[in-house]
Amino acid sequence: MLPIGAGSRYRAYRYSLLHSGDLVFGSVKIKPMAVVTQPDRTSDAELKNLRTLYQLLAALTRARSVEEVYDVAIASLLSATTADRAAILMFDDDGVIRFKAWRGLSAEYRHAVTGHTPWPKGTLDARPLVVPDVLADESLQAHWDVFSRERIRALVFIPLALGEGVFGKFMLYYSEPCQCGPDELAIAQAIAGHVSIAADRARAELARAISEQRLQAILDNSATVIFLKDLEGRYLLVNRRYEELFGVARADVVGRTDYDVFPRDVADKFRENDRNVLAKDAPIAIEECAPHPDGLHTYISIKFPIRGADGKTAGVCGIATDITDRKQLEIANQRLAAIVESSGDAIIAKDLEGVITSWNTGAERLFGYTAAEAVGRPISMLAVPDRLNEMPEILSRVSRGLRVEHYETCRLTKDGRTIQVSLTVSPVRDANGRIIGASKVARDITERKRAQETLASLLAREQEARRTAELLNRIGPSLVAELDPEKLAQVITDTATALVGAEFGAFFHNVVNEKGDSYALYTLSGVSREAFAGFPMPRSTGLFGPTFRGEGVVRCDDTTLDARYGENPPYPGMPDGHLPVRSYLAAPVVSRSGEVLGGLFFGHPLPARFTGSHEAIVVGVAAQAAIAMDNARLFEQARWVQTELKRSNEGLRRANQDLETFAYSASHDLQEPLRTIALSAQLLEQSCGTDFQSDESAILGRILMAANRMTSLVQDLLAYTNVTRYAEGAPPNVDAGSVLANVLDVLSGIIGQAGATVTSEPLPAVYIHDTRLAQLFQNLIGNAIKYRGKEAPRVHITAVQRDGWSVFSVSDNGIGIDARYSDQIFGLFKRLHGNDKYSGSGIGLAICQRIVEQYGGRIWLEKSVPDQGTTFCFSIPAGGR
Ligand code: ADP
Repeated sequence: MLPIGAGSRYRAYRYSLLHSGDLVFGSVKIKPMAVVTQPDRTSDAELKNLRTLYQLLAALTRARSVEEVYDVAIASLLSATTADRAAILMFDDDGVIRFKAWRGLSAEYRHAVTGHTPWPKGTLDARPLVVPDVLADESLQAHWDVFSRERIRALVFIPLALGEGVFGKFMLYYSEPCQCGPDELAIAQAIAGHVSIAADRARAELARAISEQRLQAILDNSATVIFLKDLEGRYLLVNRRYEELFGVARADVVGRTDYDVFPRDVADKFRENDRNVLAKDAPIAIEECAPHPDGLHTYISIKFPIRGADGKTAGVCGIATDITDRKQLEIANQRLAAIVESSGDAIIAKDLEGVITSWNTGAERLFGYTAAEAVGRPISMLAVPDRLNEMPEILSRVSRGLRVEHYETCRLTKDGRTIQVSLTVSPVRDANGRIIGASKVARDITERKRAQETLASLLAREQEARRTAELLNRIGPSLVAELDPEKLAQVITDTATALVGAEFGAFFHNVVNEKGDSYALYTLSGVSREAFAGFPMPRSTGLFGPTFRGEGVVRCDDTTLDARYGENPPYPGMPDGHLPVRSYLAAPVVSRSGEVLGGLFFGHPLPARFTGSHEAIVVGVAAQAAIAMDNARLFEQARWVQTELKRSNEGLRRANQDLETFAYSASHDLQEPLRTIALSAQLLEQSCGTDFQSDESAILGRILMAANRMTSLVQDLLAYTNVTRYAEGAPPNVDAGSVLANVLDVLSGIIGQAGATVTSEPLPAVYIHDTRLAQLFQNLIGNAIKYRGKEAPRVHITAVQRDGWSVFSVSDNGIGIDARYSDQIFGLFKRLHGNDKYSGSGIGLAICQRIVEQYGGRIWLEKSVPDQGTTFCFSIPAGGR
């Protein structure tokens, strides 16, 4: 290879290119090849070269891509040189030189020589190389085969270089050995110079286009709104986001102002902000509002001035981000914060180490610490000493993502109070879902707890009371059923001892012995009588006395600690060998009359065995016992009274029987002597009637009258005794109306004589023997006629039904009876008038009374008014029709 060094033929070829001086393409200034203008020697060849160069320049100017530049360059090279083939190779980014454009080269050749270059990339001052005959150049021996196959005999290397050194090369290929003249080399170099510049420009433009494309892509794919406006507010550029958000096409916006796109008030605001940016000549960040279909959206806009090529302010660029959601979130957060702040509950946040990170006013109120005092401190400051483990447990649960809900526990306030709280603790996560702490809502449930406890204790008391009542109700009947006082005392003692769980129990009757201080009679339970046999009876000591005085319940958790214990000399406490009593319970048994019947006593060797509810049970049992004992006593008394009554009834019955026997025999036996007296007096009157002095005859008359009267009395008495004397069997059902009709028939003589009127209502059937009913009617109607007044007698008989009884009434218009005698008149021989005025024996009404009482009925004077009349009533069991 022949290096073309300084002073080589290359330098000898000088020609004029355009005009003398530097060539300027954009900012790149290249030294033109050393071209010397020699107008006088301008030949056809030079003209051709100049033409080629002009054509090249014109083509390069039109070229739109690097490829077109390469094509134009190859064409120029082939036209301006004698080379039959040409190629352009460029260094790639990896520093390997590669074919970019070529003419007449096989792929095999290109492949074989790719990467071959006489100058490494960036070589400064590289010079063209000419290889007149490749086969003569030993350094190319490795490629001789390739050259032969490609029929290449001569080569020219033209470096493509700019300020940064070599970046590529032109290759000229000749089929025959060729020296390549200086003119040919010069034109090739000139082409290389132009192509270098054009390729560089094309690459720069490509880069610019790419970067513009990238910029637009960035702008268009930005989630924020980006725009450029000139000094007058006319849009120079808007991105796709702008188009999407405001529903306008880019083409319709560019060249227009905000007043063409937005309502006036909105545009005014934008313009004002733009002017501020221009006035300040510095970026500003402001919130701006723009209308959207769903209302005004808030943007955070970064606006800054942009400068022109001259460095002067040329407009405003804006980058606006829609922060409506964030704004709403902020508002929601503010609201949430306000809710948290105003919540009555304590709301606390803490990190996973248990350090308090937020503290609302509810927490201030509940725990007493201000937010400033609490935040930053460990949550454990609220723990009560005996629950220190609780908080780490809750935190560990929360850090595993679990919630703790309505957990009821205790917490400590600033002033050292323990309060009861209900906690709900939830994990707090960051944006990535990682648990970073816990939120805790605490509610003061002290009052609720207290109310619950009160309720529970009330409920427990109510249940206890109910249980006690049920117990007492169960034992009540068995107590009341026991009427033997001794057995009763035992049942009471046993039951109560079992109910209160006493080790032993006793009932002492309130009976004082002759010394006046012992309760002699007693019943025991839970212990044998022998256990007490050796001891004096309980005396009126401090502990026992109140019970026997009926002063209420005595309950003592430990008798040995009681002030009343051991205060009864000679005993310093319980007598030796006494059952050990620590727990003590006693209640008086007081009767309805207020008399203390005795006391129930219970003991247990252990202290504090008896509770309030045991006390209630004992009081209940004592009350039941009092009733049962009262009942037993009443029962005893009633039994005694009954026995007494039976005895006196028996006596009475015997006396009555004697009396009736006497009355019967008297009336029966008296009839005979009476008849004799009367008969004798009549005989005497008949035989000596004319011989008698008038007074003698009067005496005889009185004897006769007395005898008659006596006879009538005796007959009435006999009738009276007869009423009960004969048993007549069960009473038949008789028709009172027909009985009355018979009676009226019998009495018709008297009725007629007296000019009396007897009337009646329809009368019912009754259960009575008809002879007895006839006796009743006969006596009452007879009396009504006998005791008549001035007017002709009127008698009226009626009957009404009342509660299974037929109540008959017999009314008259006679002389009447004084009300004072309404009871007396039913007595035996009781009369209100002398025999001289109204004859009679005073037995009629007594007989009536005996009759109705025999049938279970009653007779009474219903109504009587002197001189106006009388009504008698009597009741008989109603019969069937
Ligand atoms: P007696 O008629 O034989 O005297 P009672 O036993 O029938 O005996 O009557 C007792 C008394 O009741 C009579 O004496 C009479 O005074 C009074 N008495 C009875 N019935 C009537 C009557 N209907 N009106 C007035 N007084 C009467």
